[in-house]
Amino acid sequence: GPRLRLILGDQLNAQHRWFGEVDDATIYVLMEVRQETDYVLHHAQKILAIFAAMRALARQLRAAGHKLHYLAIDDARNLQSIPANIDALAAQYRATAVEYQEPDEWRLDQQLYLHGRRSPIPWLMVDSDHFYTTRNGAADIFMGRKQWLMEFFYRRMRVEHQVLMDDSTKPLGGQWNFDHDNRKPWRGVPAEPADARALHDHSALWKTIVGAGVKSFGNPKADRFAWALDREEALHQLDAFIDNALPQFGDFQDAMSAKAWRLFHSLLSFALNVKMLNPREVVARAEAAYQAGRAPLAAVEGFIRQILGWREYVRGVYWANMPGYAEKNFFGHTRALPGWFWDGKTRMNCLSHAITQSLEQAHAHHIQRLMVIGNFALLAGLDPAQVHRWYLGVYIDAFEWVELPNTVGMSQFADGGLLATKPYVSSAAYIDRMGDYCKGCHYDKKLRVGERACPFNALYWDFFQRNAATLERNPRIGMVYRQLAKMDEAEIADFQRQARSVTGNLDSL
Ligand code: FAD
Ligand code: SF4
Repeated sequence: GPRLRLILGDQLNAQHRWFGEVDDATIYVLMEVRQETDYVLHHAQKILAIFAAMRALARQLRAAGHKLHYLAIDDARNLQSIPANIDALAAQYRATAVEYQEPDEWRLDQQLYLHGRRSPIPWLMVDSDHFYTTRNGAADIFMGRKQWLMEFFYRRMRVEHQVLMDDSTKPLGGQWNFDHDNRKPWRGVPAEPADARALHDHSALWKTIVGAGVKSFGNPKADRFAWALDREEALHQLDAFIDNALPQFGDFQDAMSAKAWRLFHSLLSFALNVKMLNPREVVARAEAAYQAGRAPLAAVEGFIRQILGWREYVRGVYWANMPGYAEKNFFGHTRALPGWFWDGKTRMNCLSHAITQSLEQAHAHHIQRLMVIGNFALLAGLDPAQVHRWYLGVYIDAFEWVELPNTVGMSQFADGGLLATKPYVSSAAYIDRMGDYCKGCHYDKKLRVGERACPFNALYWDFFQRNAATLERNPRIGMVYRQLAKMDEAEIADFQRQARSVTGNLDSL
């Protein structure tokens, strides 16, 4: 009998070694299942993008001569669970073996492993041919260390893969990190590059998804769908990014603006995470742009660090901490998300913008995720598990292996500081410095107390005050505690009262 080869929805790598030759004894299997649409409430665009991209890959593989069985969401024979469908197909085709690529999510890895072990035919897992490191790569590098410094990992990666190196051990430009040059606000010049993504009409597929009963949130934009759905489109987007945005990527990496939602970011995370693009080719293109004198080193280094550094590193953090990472709650926060996480309707201009954009585009850039939404969630004491589920659902690029360490670790400090050397929180001052949100805001960025006071301010001081016992000795936040020490009791009581009033009225901010 033939062997079945399962391709998961985030394994759309047309260059995988599997497809090197056409083999009549192999049947590729792709399936759209409720198991995957329903494990969290997803943004409409995320479901649509994954299904449409799966369908595109299936067409491409069939055209290349591969045998393939595609189970659509509305197929009457679809059992809506991956193992159940595989068992049924194995019986139908009298398959003698099942193969699958290493899943990136713990939940799927467990499910397939446990099911395969009980199956009468062998189940074999192969590499997904995607990442630089193995699942345990980071754990090996950090063996026995309490804190996992990304920078340490990143330098090892630069040397190991000889990226932006002068000779085999020295970094190009004599520096590993150009972050100091990379922290500029954006005042409108140069203009935001045009959105390079092609628009498609996926209304018919969207109808099928809704008709099958799949629940979702956010704007589907089905008739003007913008995410790259195959390798060719993703490569086009990569080219446009390298030419038009990479030169400014460094300068405006941390900038925020109500007038520009993408700024100089690549919007490549979806294509990368579903494996239409390989991180090596993205890194190589950026490095080549520097070598050709088309982008400055600071921008290229900053961009490469996100992919060769952060992306691989968070994956290692994930595998070293699963299962159980999603339940971490260092500060014991328990508040529910305010309702405006689902409609963007708050008078806080920064949050209204970042959330409305997330619902419209299924995307927000890093600083919106970290220093607006995540910052507020941590200061307001929102339950990190709920915050995690919101992030996992809303973003087009959200797959647990990358979303969870970023949300629970980096943004909510819920792991007690494994990834982050200090909690990423700020008062209004930082948000005002890096963007233009405060100008149009109902609240006053300068005030700490009173009706018009920016909620971030009192929450910020209250956060450090109530967590003094655990955070005071952290040398990276010594400044905050020196300032607190200078405040008198009345000042402290004032911001505490204000913070209580804010957290008591989250829904009406
Ligand atoms: P660019 O700014 O152009 O960066 C280039 C690439 O670098 C990205 O495509 C991405 O692959 C990689 N990258 C950048 N930052 C990170 C990071 N911190 N961790 C891992 N890879 C990174 N990224 C996801 O891919 N999926 C998520 O679910 C996700 N959740 C996040 C949640 C929070 C709370 C935070 C703070 C960050 C999260 N990130 C996540 C990281 C980052 O915000 C996104 O990768 C980025 O915004 C994607 O947009 P882009 O492709 O334009 O990125
Ligand atoms: Fe956000 Fe406060 Fe600025 Fe308003 S004043 S945009 S709430 S930081």
